[in-house]
Amino acid sequence: MDQYNNFVETPLQRASLPVMEAFYTLQGEGFHSGKAAYFIRLGGCDVGCVWCDVKDSWDAEVHPKLSVDTIVQDALQYPARMAVITGGEPLMYPLDELTEALKVAGFQVNIETSGAHPMSGKWDWVCFSPKKFKAPHESVYAQAHELKVIVYNKSDFEFAEKHAALVSDDCILLLQPEWSRVQEMTPLIVEYVKQHPQWRISLQTHKYMDIP
Ligand code: SF4
Repeated sequence: MDQYNNFVETPLQRASLPVMEAFYTLQGEGFHSGKAAYFIRLGGCDVGCVWCDVKDSWDAEVHPKLSVDTIVQDALQYPARMAVITGGEPLMYPLDELTEALKVAGFQVNIETSGAHPMSGKWDWVCFSPKKFKAPHESVYAQAHELKVIVYNKSDFEFAEKHAALVSDDCILLLQPEWSRVQEMTPLIVEYVKQHPQWRISLQTHKYMDIP
């Protein structure tokens, strides 16, 4: 399938993925904000958000491919049993083997995705953050536990409502100011949530705490 073109297909390497970085920290944003978690940032993204703060992730070729076993063993060095797969755009790769191995090792397995590629993997928590720059795949909406819309300008409220209409009724709805626009957008989000209480605000608390 086209979306898996970057995935190496020989048996020996089937379970290898490009890892830009992996680190132990606190989840700073969204529903699980404040919890310790092991982040696995996969390289490769074809979405192209103009305000992306991890543009170094975009080119998958520059990041080392690690086996699923290595990724899981590294994660086990830390006490928390919550793993967050992020990117880049992690759904550029089939993620079934990675999620299965993490679950066998005892992890709660979460993903942060723009939804720009079909869902793969078995997830305990799906944070779906659609972007205007590449439309989400239809398979993602029903599996989203939280819809997190980044607010860069006023038109993003309309964008948020459009996607909220497509997720399940129990999906948690979050509006998060884009970091470079946090001063301008936060007051607008506060007012929007007061008027539309089905939404919550999400802040990038790790940036306030100056942690990764
Ligand atoms: Fe950056 Fe994420 Fe947008 Fe990709 S989807 S360009 S990694 S913000």
